[in-house]
Amino acid sequence: MNTAFLGLGAIGRPMAARLAAAGHTLVVWNRTRERAEQFARDTGAGVAVAASPAEAARNSDVVFTCFSTSRDVQSVLDGSDGLLAGLARGAVLVDCTSGDPATSKTIADALAARGVGFLDAPVSGGVSGAEKGTLTVMVGGDAAVLQAVRPAIEAFAGKIVHCGPVGAGDAVKAVNQAFLAIHLLAAAEGLVTLVKQGVDPKVALDVINASSGRSNSSMNLIPERVITRAFPKTFRLALLEKDIGIAAELARQNRVPSPVTQLTADLFRVARGELGEVADHVEVVKMVEQWGGAEIT
Ligand code: NDP
Repeated sequence: MNTAFLGLGAIGRPMAARLAAAGHTLVVWNRTRERAEQFARDTGAGVAVAASPAEAARNSDVVFTCFSTSRDVQSVLDGSDGLLAGLARGAVLVDCTSGDPATSKTIADALAARGVGFLDAPVSGGVSGAEKGTLTVMVGGDAAVLQAVRPAIEAFAGKIVHCGPVGAGDAVKAVNQAFLAIHLLAAAEGLVTLVKQGVDPKVALDVINASSGRSNSSMNLIPERVITRAFPKTFRLALLEKDIGIAAELARQNRVPSPVTQLTADLFRVARGELGEVADHVEVVKMVEQWGGAEIT
């Protein structure tokens, strides 16, 4: 298929590379142009760098976006350089941003008025999943539109799930991210407590990971990134703060009493303020360690 990929950040880069490797024609655009040029150099011949979102969209059947927020996607729609100026009738915008359902619906309506399809298609599985092409893609939008663009999405997906109408993919992603944020904080609090109680955290995890309290945080993130003090930068804490904020807002809109989600959103807002914009999400554990006065090592 003729594809375009806009947003070559931590996860967008390997997703776009999978499209090229699968043999799709690929045009890329990135706000910081040098990153797009570097990507084209790294990926090899056949990848074109567009000067604007409009240019990237022209002649593309499927345009992928993967920005920080839905608002960022909205910001590249209008104007002579914007996506709407380049997208042809019958083309489809597949937005892989972990976005918010309301903004996705607004974007979908603007595109529908031009005969352009829209899917919200956030992903999970991290940078390593993107590199291996094993991402889980949760899709909101028309099932027939998904069917048409499925071959392109398959370039980076291990699992594609149609979740419902536009916004459903974003909603499922936000709740998944809320689980991640809650599990991470809960595991950090529990393990700092055990360290201060004199228990080796590796011994504690050996038990917990064979017991009902286990989670991705206890099984993977804490052993690989906290105990080792490696804290690799793969997914910014600022983005998880955005995600849990979307989940908290969704719960409020649906009038679901959600004290755990709301408090976690507040704690991640504090963490973002304390740790800054480039910190990785797992570094929230450092805040809990500092408050508790012990490291999980
Ligand atoms: P990064 O911060 O690494 O990259 C963000 C990308 O968005 C960059 O290409 C940036 O351009 C671009 N961008 C941001 N704002 C704008 C804007 N206003 N206009 C145009 N481009 C913009 O983020 P990630 O790649 O990590 O994440 C992207 C999305 O994927 C997020 O929604 C995130 O929540 C989600 N996600 C990330 C995962 C991960 O493991 N990293 C896992 C699953 C989902 P520039 O280069 O110019 O800054």
